[in-house]
Amino acid sequence: VQRSHVTYFGAGPAPLPTPVLEKAAEVLLNYKDKGIGLCEISHRSPEANDILARTKQALATLLDIPDDYDILFLQSGGSGEFSATVYNLVSIWVEKKRAKIAEEVGDNTDEVLKRLRQVVDEELKLDYLVTGSWSLKASQEASRLIGAKHVNIAADARKANHGKFGKIPSEDQWSLTPRAAGGPALVYFCDNETVDGVEFPSFPRSLEGDDAPLVCADMSSNFISRKVDVSKYAVIFGGAQKNIGNTGIAIVIIRKSLLPPHSTPASPDLLRHLNLSVGPIVLDYPTIAKNNSLYNTLPIFDVWVAGEVMSGLVDSFGAKRIGGQEEVSDEKARLIYEAIERCPDVYRVVPDKSVRSRMNICFRVNGGDADKEKAFLAGAEKKGLLGLKGHRSVGGIRASNYNAVSLNGVKLLVAYLDEFAKSA
Ligand code: PLP
Repeated sequence: VQRSHVTYFGAGPAPLPTPVLEKAAEVLLNYKDKGIGLCEISHRSPEANDILARTKQALATLLDIPDDYDILFLQSGGSGEFSATVYNLVSIWVEKKRAKIAEEVGDNTDEVLKRLRQVVDEELKLDYLVTGSWSLKASQEASRLIGAKHVNIAADARKANHGKFGKIPSEDQWSLTPRAAGGPALVYFCDNETVDGVEFPSFPRSLEGDDAPLVCADMSSNFISRKVDVSKYAVIFGGAQKNIGNTGIAIVIIRKSLLPPHSTPASPDLLRHLNLSVGPIVLDYPTIAKNNSLYNTLPIFDVWVAGEVMSGLVDSFGAKRIGGQEEVSDEKARLIYEAIERCPDVYRVVPDKSVRSRMNICFRVNGGDADKEKAFLAGAEKKGLLGLKGHRSVGGIRASNYNAVSLNGVKLLVAYLDEFAKSA
């Protein structure tokens, strides 16, 4: 089957632009006429450094990332960042508290530790907005690492929705840790829930303001698909394998004030003393930042692919930057949702209209009739429309509308949606 005859709507790993893959095939064999391929050269070579710098620059340009943010590359995958955000921000929170107590009680180490233990016990909270499977997993990882009593589920979207994901509770129903009491160590949300097709329409207002908490967002499945006001976030992260590149790296955008010398992490001894776990060094943001993401071997080929994809977008959209991609993404999503809504007797979008994702379009055929959905998928496959099966945990159909899915491919899907509905 020819690549050009297929449109792949899988949720990740996801399609990459064909010209990038063609060039990738070349550089794998021979990078810049050195007679050796890109996976074979040192991650500390000048070539690798150039790739790293170029990729960072492309992302910074695309998203208009302010100067007081750093960009890190890790092999953690998206899931590794569930842990990294906890380790790093808890560590900063603890050290801040320690310093404050030390200021009050002076050099009496025993007294500092006694008070700090009490403060950790009573005040350490991490707020999670659970709006789908991935934020649920992140909150579960936080509980596993630091104990459930420190994890505040500030919102659980299933509660007001018959136990299912598909809505985001209104902000007045959230129970965030009060800022007056020092606030949480972090507030976490998943900007786009890949499995459930739920996307935050905009940045939550209750997380704004001068004394705003440290907001961490998982953008694995909607990274570089719309404008983002980076300055509102402490940490943005995402696995590369959907909109950005191939599987193998995660990208972290972090506020520099959370890194040394502006912030000091708690010492491993102190964390152990407080019965808090010490994170692996490969997830330690200060270590990764200090080493320009080269603390350990970085898969430079993966960074190169991400750089090619993002430089391509910079070139395509010029001054519009990511706003140009946002227009395209919105248009493609609009076409698909309109086609689904044209035939309400046959199709039903799963999530609520106010929060439905532009990236992962989840719907049911004939109310979730297993045979009809099978027939829908089989018919789609015959037309080269692949990867439309919903996540195994929720079933149904999911059309993932990532950046590399072409407008033409979307139009083919729309035509098929109309055709199938007529015959259903
Ligand atoms: N977060 C989101 C939103 C995802 O969609 C995924 C994977 O699909 C992950 C996190 C986990 O990423 P990884 O498989 O790289 O750990």
